[in-house]
Amino acid sequence: MTDMAWRRGCVDNIDLSANTEANELADLASDSVIVFDLTGNIRYWNPASETLYGWPAIGAVGRSIGDMSANTAVHITQWQSLMQEGAWEGHVDRRTLWGGRITASVRQTVRCSADGRPRDVVEYGRCAGKEPPLSSALDIDVHRLATASWEFDISGVRPLIEQIADLFSRGAMAELAQQPDWTDELLEGARIVDVNERAAHLVGAHVGRAGMIGQSASAFWPRVGRDVLAELIVAVATDHSRGIPRMRKLACDGVLRDPVVTAWRSEEGGRPDIVFVAVNGATDDDRSFWYLRASEERYRKLIHHLPTALLQVDASRMAPVFEKLKNTGVSDLNAYLDQHPELVEFMKNVVRITEANQRAVALFGGTAPADFITPVAFLFEASPQTPRRIMLARFEGKRNYTEIMKVRTFDGRLLDVQLSVTFPAPPERLDVTLFSLEDITERLRTERQLRQVETDFTHAARVSMLGEFATSIAHEINQPLSAIVTNGETSLRWLSRDNPNRAKVEQLTTRIVSSARHASDIVQRIRGMAAKHEPARVSLDLNDVIEEALLFVRHDIEAKSIHLSVRLASNLPVILADRVQLQQVIVNLLVNSIQAIAQGCRPVRKIDLATRVDGEGAVVFSIHDSGPGIPDENLDNIFDSFFTTKETGMGIGLAVCQSIILAHGGSIGASNCSDGGAQFRFSLPVPPKAD
Ligand code: ADP
Repeated sequence: MTDMAWRRGCVDNIDLSANTEANELADLASDSVIVFDLTGNIRYWNPASETLYGWPAIGAVGRSIGDMSANTAVHITQWQSLMQEGAWEGHVDRRTLWGGRITASVRQTVRCSADGRPRDVVEYGRCAGKEPPLSSALDIDVHRLATASWEFDISGVRPLIEQIADLFSRGAMAELAQQPDWTDELLEGARIVDVNERAAHLVGAHVGRAGMIGQSASAFWPRVGRDVLAELIVAVATDHSRGIPRMRKLACDGVLRDPVVTAWRSEEGGRPDIVFVAVNGATDDDRSFWYLRASEERYRKLIHHLPTALLQVDASRMAPVFEKLKNTGVSDLNAYLDQHPELVEFMKNVVRITEANQRAVALFGGTAPADFITPVAFLFEASPQTPRRIMLARFEGKRNYTEIMKVRTFDGRLLDVQLSVTFPAPPERLDVTLFSLEDITERLRTERQLRQVETDFTHAARVSMLGEFATSIAHEINQPLSAIVTNGETSLRWLSRDNPNRAKVEQLTTRIVSSARHASDIVQRIRGMAAKHEPARVSLDLNDVIEEALLFVRHDIEAKSIHLSVRLASNLPVILADRVQLQQVIVNLLVNSIQAIAQGCRPVRKIDLATRVDGEGAVVFSIHDSGPGIPDENLDNIFDSFFTTKETGMGIGLAVCQSIILAHGGSIGASNCSDGGAQFRFSLPVPPKAD
């Protein structure tokens, strides 16, 4: 069995450290329960023993009970009688952690193995007086007393400790003041060798005992008592009479009431750099410590299993920084950080994660919550500007802050996450800031894909429309082409004369150039409409777009003997829109009207187009046809994708129109007019005028 296993209280055959029933029962007993080996070395020490004698199990297990006896001679006699008789009952005087004495009434029994050989000694004990000295010293209800104990290895900071102790002993306060961070430095370098379950429970969160071992003291020791701990460590580490405990009261830490910290050095000569620390105090709750623990455990489990990644963050070291900035008159932190970017770096390294739930472990591809017990810097590697924005929100006294940022996981993946920071209230408890992280990589990817599909969809619709308008387009281009041919032939004739008329040829050639330009213009527009392009917003006049759209359908309108009336408002305000997309909307609506008229059998065949500005200043386009109108039951569905009443229809035209108009911040709707026929109307916002 390893030394460590002994320390945790393992006894042959009965493991009193693991989750055995024996352990739980003895842990819950209100009497002191101690197990010794046959030479009097302590192997198990229950919480009630900690309460009675003050010594935490960490400091007691492994020691000899003889060392704790106030009178060695009496102890030796008593022990001999126990070994002879197999049992002993009576009063014993023992030394407490605080250097005092306590008389305990104890019952000791020698237990035997299966082969009948003595194996160990179990002792039950309680205070022989009215009250144990500890509880009266602390003025608390003994049943609610909780001892959190720690074992620190201070070898890494021994030189610093010696230096500080020297300053203390010389009363060199001015020199000490030049090292304002010595407590942080000391606690950073003091390593946790072991803690008891209550220390893990009180401050270790669910990283638990295992997660705390090997970490620095500063990662877990509550902010409020750092100075006290550092000073106690200096005092006991440099005290040559090892084993004498030093005590200090702690300012209330919110978890324990009237806590008292006791520190002492290992009495074992070979471990000069081991310091034990015990924190005693009443749990600040009327329920018993164990009841409270159970309910907190449930709460912790709940958090642990929440489906959102949660990180508990200790930002307490920023509190004095913010306070100082405010006291020195800094009100615009943003401007201050421009001058002092190093403050953001400082924040990233002193604000630490103290707890992480399972979802966070899974999100980051980690192995255990302990992976997160570090400064927050790593969280922001892929989003270096985020910490600054969090600081600004905190400085401005906001309760929450949220943004989408990128994080690099432990296994190298780059994720998009929605970060929500919940700052603590009241703000001075900056040690319980919560970061929740929701992985939205998939959602953003889907949105991007959706946008891509929409673009492809629009493009496909546009190209297929162009095919349909081939006749119209040919007709439009044919006009300038025939003009070019006619003018070219005429000028050739003028040139072939004996006396060529130079002025006439010049005039004809100018017309040829203008017709060619016109044709090229048309080709340009068609090409623009066919090209797959990202939406581009430019300032444009909706009336111009209507003229361009008509280019594609005018021939069809004429061929089908439809009367077209166009009433365009003069001085229409300029809108910010994608020219090709709007052309497409108007062409779609025109085509639907043409088809509706062709399908219906009303004698009136007309389409009215109009533009105007509505009461809210938006630009409105309307198209009204003399077709059969839209059956009332279809009015709600016509903008749905793939809704069609036509035999060869696709049902995508209006869906595309709607998505284009919505993307422009406008609205589109359809209705039937009292004189029959359908009316479609869309409106587009006018951007505010720049002054
Ligand atoms: P498609 O033309 O391929 O059917 P649309 O999305 O352009 O697809 O139109 C959807 C449906 O809306 C049409 O099938 C038709 O029933 C109705 N619709 C559209 N425009 C008109 C109109 N001007 N008059 C009557 N019904 C119309």
